[in-house]
Parts: sequence; C-alpha cells; structure tokens
Amino acid sequence: MCPIIPRSDQFIHSISWQSELSRAIKDVRSLLDYTGNQPDNIDGLDIGELDFPLRVPRPYANRIEHGNPDDPLLRQVLPLSIEKNHVTGYVSDPLREANSNIQPGIIHKYKGRVLLILSGACAINCRYCFRRHFPYQDNQNSSAEWQSALGYIRQDSSITEVILSGGDPLINSDKTLQQLSQSIAEIAHVKRLRIHTRLPVVIPQRVTDEMLDWLTQSRLQTIVVIHANHASEIDEQVTNALLKIRARGITLLNQSVLLKAVNDDVNTLKQLSERLFQAGVMPYYLHLLDKVQGAAHFDIPSQQAQLLVGQLSSQLAGYLVPKLVREIAGEPSKTPLLARF
Ligand code: SF4
Repeated sequence: MCPIIPRSDQFIHSISWQSELSRAIKDVRSLLDYTGNQPDNIDGLDIGELDFPLRVPRPYANRIEHGNPDDPLLRQVLPLSIEKNHVTGYVSDPLREANSNIQPGIIHKYKGRVLLILSGACAINCRYCFRRHFPYQDNQNSSAEWQSALGYIRQDSSITEVILSGGDPLINSDKTLQQLSQSIAEIAHVKRLRIHTRLPVVIPQRVTDEMLDWLTQSRLQTIVVIHANHASEIDEQVTNALLKIRARGITLLNQSVLLKAVNDDVNTLKQLSERLFQAGVMPYYLHLLDKVQGAAHFDIPSQQAQLLVGQLSSQLAGYLVPKLVREIAGEPSKTPLLARF
C-alpha cells in the first residue's frame, strides 16, 4: 500500500510533474484510503488482479470529494468487477485501429492527418479508455521508430497535420518533444501540430515554461486538445495552467466522453462547458463511448445523448455546446449526431 501523503496545496505546488507521475496511486485500497472511502461502501469493487491497472495521480485524486463513493471523478478511475463481464458488441479494438497501425508508432486513418503514438503510458488510467487493450508493446517508441515515422510523414505530401497521441504524449520529456516537433516542422508540407493530452488536467504542473517554449517556437500552428469530462476536474491550478497555454496563442480545445453516472445530465455538461471556457478552452467534442470491452456500464444510448445536447443547446450559447459525435470504425471522419429537442 502506498504511504498516505497530506493534501496540502503548498506541498502540491512544490512537487514536479515527474514526481507526481511516480507517486501516483496505483492500488485500489490506497485510493480508497486517500479519498476517505471504505471498500464495503462500493458495490462491485474489484480489488483483484487487473488487466488494465489502476493509476491515479494525486492532484486529480485531491479533487475527489472526500468520503463520497459516487464522486464522478472517482467513478472514472475505480475498477469494478463488472468490467470483466463480456457484453455483446463491446470489443478490444472498437475503432479497428489495428488496421490503421500501418507501422510501429503510426496510426493513419484519416486523410491529411497522421497520429504518432509517442507513449503507451498515461498519467491516469481511465476505465472507459478505448485504447485500454491497445498493443503498446508493439509500438515501442524507440528513436529508430520515430525516425521511421518521420520518414513516413516526409514521403506523403498529403499529410498536413501531425497529431501527437498515446497513451499521453506529454509523458515524454520537453527536450525529447522539442526535438521531435522541430523535426516535424522541417517537413515542408506539415502545417499543424496537434497534441492530444490529459496531463494538464490531471497533473497541471506538466505545463512547464519549457513545454510552452517548444509549443510556440516552431513555425507550425499548434493545437492542444485536452480531455476533461466534469467541471470538478478543472480546479484553480488546472485553470491557471490552461490559461498559460492560451496566453501563448495556442488553440485549446476539449473533448469529453459522455459517461453514465459521471456527466450524463444537462447541468453537469453545462457547468463543464462554462468552466472550460473560463479556462480559455473551447468545448469541442462530446463523444459517445467507444464500445470497448470492459466499459459497457458507462455507455449512454445515442437518443438520450441527442436529447441531452438538445437541452444543452437551449441553455447555452452555441460556441459553448460541444459537437456530439460517434467514431465508427472505417469511416473517413467522426460521425456527428444531431441534437434532439
Ligand atoms: S488519458 Fe486518454 S489515453 Fe490515457 S487512459 Fe485516459 S482516456 Fe485513455
């Protein structure tokens, strides 16, 4: 069991993001102790062997309401035995990414854009993750593989945007990312660099001056797409970190996943959009759950999702309403779903 470390804000500020990564909570009992919960109060808790391990960084765990087993942040990370049930239609690779994983480290499924898998690891393990079964061991990210990935981008002049993904790409050092972004910028036909990351939300200390420098030093237009599902994920430290990114002129977008008992009501979605905008982030996508094995209990029927977005549209300005989308394997883009009223 991990030692319990006090939740002092002053203490949290003095810890580097790398230390926060290494002292993340990695077992169920420690998480329950840290959040003031008892195993007996949580129905269907899985304290056994996990095929998708628990990992929760403390800055995120600090935002979980103490003693509340139904906290929406806790629900996103707590393993339940129901994950081991096989539910028809929920599979290990719901987006059939194996077909687009054309060489180690590269997923090329959409025209003009290519995804570089820079890490198999994340700062947090979200139980609903569509890549929870992804074969990261076959995408090992050696420098030879990165060179080969750069070669792939170089020889295809239709690629105008490179997306750094993972796992979480920001788990790599700023020095490494700076070198990589420089190499990408040297490829004349690439115009944009997009970074998909949850790190600034779960460990806001990750937004370092070095990171802001490499994000803004190249000629590429840069877009950072964060992932937050609930307003409680965006506290003052996260807001300050996001505003620092925004202050450098970087486009900041958010994508959320619609999750049962986490954010499937209009007030929660409304608060999320408003909190994001205060932090300089445009609400961008609201995804229906990708039907990954182990996450069926989070799924929301599409009609219910459309009604929710209809209610949201009637309460918020259009720019605060994220696009409701579903990703369908083999389709050339995400599929939008219309709001219902
Ligand atoms: S941060 Fe993203 S990639 Fe990592 S586990 Fe969560 S949803 Fe999956």
